[in-house]
Formats: sequence, structure tokens, C-alpha cells
Amino acid sequence: MIETVRSLSTLRESVSRRRAAGKRIGLVPTMGALHEGHLTLVDIAGQHSDDVAVSLFVNPTQFAPGEDLDRYPRDEEGDRAKLEDRGASLLWAPGPEQMYPDGFATSVSVDGPSEGLETGYRPHFFGGVATVVTKLLLQVLPDVAVFGEKDYQQLQVIRRLVRDLDIPVQVVGGPTIREADGLAMSSRNAYLSAEHRAIAPALKRILDDTGRQAVSSPDGEKAETFATEALISAGFDKVDYVALRHADSLKPVTTNEIEAGAPLRLLAAAHLGTTRLIDNIDPRSV
Ligand code: AMP
Repeated sequence: MIETVRSLSTLRESVSRRRAAGKRIGLVPTMGALHEGHLTLVDIAGQHSDDVAVSLFVNPTQFAPGEDLDRYPRDEEGDRAKLEDRGASLLWAPGPEQMYPDGFATSVSVDGPSEGLETGYRPHFFGGVATVVTKLLLQVLPDVAVFGEKDYQQLQVIRRLVRDLDIPVQVVGGPTIREADGLAMSSRNAYLSAEHRAIAPALKRILDDTGRQAVSSPDGEKAETFATEALISAGFDKVDYVALRHADSLKPVTTNEIEAGAPLRLLAAAHLGTTRLIDNIDPRSV
């Protein structure tokens, strides 16, 4: 039976008990509305630990006013059943007052990998993510924590904050899990109309085409322009960015670096109506 915990003191007791029994603890932070992408991270956490804890917290500080905090899908009962089925041991479901009590005044800010890309369009986002992830890691004190490559820039920001703050946890990245037509699974896909759902898989297809092109005739800027035009032709309403970057630093790459075999990531964010989709690929593996 999965144990559901809502107070920090109970969480600490539960984790201590498991540790005293010699268990390694894994953590998968989520905002709930769980799909196969999240559940695959639970499987991966299980390969690295004995007891998998999953946190479920829709973090208000990573949403700007006017974003989708109020309509973000919530289904704790359904999530618990899926986690139970997948063998998770602990569901950490704090309320906002537990995470941000009156007078809360601290934030974690990461430079480097959080510069550009998402930050250009959601400037509040990584401050909210870095602060809540730091809290979750210090609350659960897991041996290993698993995050999805679906949110690739976020994964790099978390790797950096764990390294910079000497947080004693191993960070593991899990691959992006996709629908059969290539659309990256996301809790936000539920917002898509039937018409937009039919257009959405073009994002992955265009990233693949662009990635191939960027590697075979290395000109990052040309590839980015090609992809932006292709997305608009496919029916996307607005493209925030398509960017070819160094896979670790997320800095722009030169033609020389591409030719010399630098690890690459091609990342994109684009809008279909009021829904914003993000995705990314490794252009060397398409
Ligand atoms: P979220 O609930 O959207 O905050 O996501 C929680 C975790 O699940 C993050 O580490 C995400 O990167 C990861 N995740 C979300 N969607 C996917 C997916 N399609 N494949 C793999 N991981 C994912």
C-alpha cells in the first residue's frame, strides 16, 4: 500500500523509518495529473532505490499571473492508484501552506543553464522550480532523484543547483515518453482541442528534420529559421524559440563545435491556441 503523507513531520518519520530498515530512497517530483512519462520516471527511480517517493505539488511560484495555475489538471485519487500500481511506496502531497508558510522569504536562483530559452518567455519559472526542488530534496533527502528530459533545460538547471549547493543526491534524467504519433506526453496536452491535437505531433517531426539538417550541414541559425517556418506552416500560432544548443551548458554552438562533435540539443517552444508546447531532441540520435 502506498503511504500518503501531508505533513513534513510525518514525512521525516516515514523516511527515517525506511532508512533505518536499510532502504535506499528515490524521489520523483511531479505536479500530478500523472501519465506514462511520470510513471516511467517512477520505474527508473525503482531501478536506483528500494522505496520510491513521489511528490505531488502544483507549485504556484512557477506560474506567472495569468498562466494556467487555476485550471492545471488535478486528480490525486487517480494519481495514487497509478502510483500504487507502479510500486511507489510514498506519496508526498503537501499543501501550499506547508510549502510556503506565512513569512516565507527565501528563493534559490540558478544562473548558467537557466539563462535564455524558457527564461526569455517565462522569466519567473526557474526561480520557482529551483526553490521548490531544493525544498523537496531537503524534505525527503533521497539518495536519487529522477527528472524527465522532456523538460531538458529544467533538468540542466537542477543538475547545476545540486552540484553548486552540494546537495547529497544523485540526479538521474529519464527519456521523453511520447504518444504513438510522437507528441511528448504532458499533463497540459489535455488542454488541446481535437484540431490542435492533430497538429501537435508536427513539433517532434519538425525537430527531427531540423536536427538531421543541423548535423549534416552545420548551420544552427539556418536550421532554426527552417524549423520556425515549418512550424507556422504546420499550423502553430506562434513559435517562442527553436534553438540548437550545447547539450550540457545550453549555450549556442558554432559550426566548428558542431563539426567537432560537441554534444547537442535542439529545443523548441511553440503555441497552439492557448496551449504552449515544449519539446527537445538530441539531433545526433535521429
Ligand atoms: P510535471 O508534473 O510536468 O512537473 O513533471 C514532473 C516530472 O515528469 C518532470 O521531471 C518532467 O520532466 C517529467 N516528465 C513530464 N512529462 C514527461 C514525459 N513525456 N516523458 C518523461 N518525463 C516527463
